[in-house]
Amino acid sequence: MTQFIGTSDIRSLLRHTGLEPFLVGLAGYIEADFRRWESFEKAARLASHSRDGVIELMPASDGELYAMKFVNGHPGNTAGGKLTVTAFGVLADVSTGYPVLVSEMTILTALRTAATSAVAARALARPDSRVLALIGAGAQSEFQALAFKALLGVEEVRVFDLDTEAMDKFCLNLATSGLRIIRAGSVAEAVDGADIVTTCTADKTRARVLTPDHVVPGMHLNAIGGDCPGKTELHPDIVAGASVFTEYTPQTRVEGEIQQMPADFAVTELWQVLTGKAAGRRSAGEVTLFDSVGFAIEDFSTLRYARDLSRAEIRDIDLIPELDDPKDLFGLLAAQSPKWATIAASTAAGSTRQSQSPRPLATPSGSPNT
Ligand code: NAD
Repeated sequence: MTQFIGTSDIRSLLRHTGLEPFLVGLAGYIEADFRRWESFEKAARLASHSRDGVIELMPASDGELYAMKFVNGHPGNTAGGKLTVTAFGVLADVSTGYPVLVSEMTILTALRTAATSAVAARALARPDSRVLALIGAGAQSEFQALAFKALLGVEEVRVFDLDTEAMDKFCLNLATSGLRIIRAGSVAEAVDGADIVTTCTADKTRARVLTPDHVVPGMHLNAIGGDCPGKTELHPDIVAGASVFTEYTPQTRVEGEIQQMPADFAVTELWQVLTGKAAGRRSAGEVTLFDSVGFAIEDFSTLRYARDLSRAEIRDIDLIPELDDPKDLFGLLAAQSPKWATIAASTAAGSTRQSQSPRPLATPSGSPNT
């Protein structure tokens, strides 16, 4: 049977672990996988662009497990009551090709993006960074704020969004987070005095959310909203003047802020910094930019982490036929086949067990490499 983690499962998992401990544990898995970057089979994601957005497939494998995420990005969706970004993912056993886990990844993507942002900032921002400016208060924003609190010790978040209701929602959601939240009246007001700036806006255009006058020496910029061809957030002069760090450069050259730069524009991949193969920040006055677009290894780590945390309590679904004779697939369809009855019975038993028993969960403190 294939295991399944749905939206309600992630909610109860997060209630059990707590959001910040979950983010810390997830960051550990992501960093551990970035440190073994060279052992992964990697590819830029396959993107299908349309007028309103993009649908993408993101694969990665370490030779034992294979992960694939389906994700969309439709900036106009919120006007119609839908999320900009939704996702689900699959983890498969490379030795058989069988999917072992199917999971929701809309919430997991927000968590993994925030955890990756914090892993990058821990390596690139000034260690004394305590003030975060957040431009864009949509679905990703609270996760970003909490990851920077949990992993970097950020104490103050200055938030700005063109949509005042999104800012209301952000302030309400984080009212008891322990963060000092400042509601800014403009981008300039939000970034004034910030050590780190996260841009997480959604607009399918070459936007200039940040302009050079917003950036001061020593800032770390975490640009996550520019993640498609023709969809950027930073003025090109900011990119040209910063030390730029990427996830998987062949993908970022097409999708990230550096799509505005010449093809040979120098960048450093984050895994090289995490493994000591390349320098991160070189001086307190340097401007560092994490040009994040989201890479498949982050989803691989996240599926692995969610499965390890949930362990045996994940429910099963009958995604793949189970046959006594693997060559007799046709026999499964015979009208009188006892296999149908077996599958129906085990599915019903699984859903009964699910609805009756609360889910005991593993703690998030396990080794990232298990
Ligand atoms: P969302 O639609 O929920 O929120 C986006 C917010 O940005 C909205 O509240 C909107 O009002 C605001 N906004 C738009 N233009 C603005 C501007 N010029 N100034 C201030 N605010 C502005 O989207 P989301 O789910 O929060 O995602 C945000 C962005 O992050 C999207 O572009 C998405 O594609 C991207 N994303 C990137 C990664 C990654 O790994 N890099 C992962 C997930 C999402």
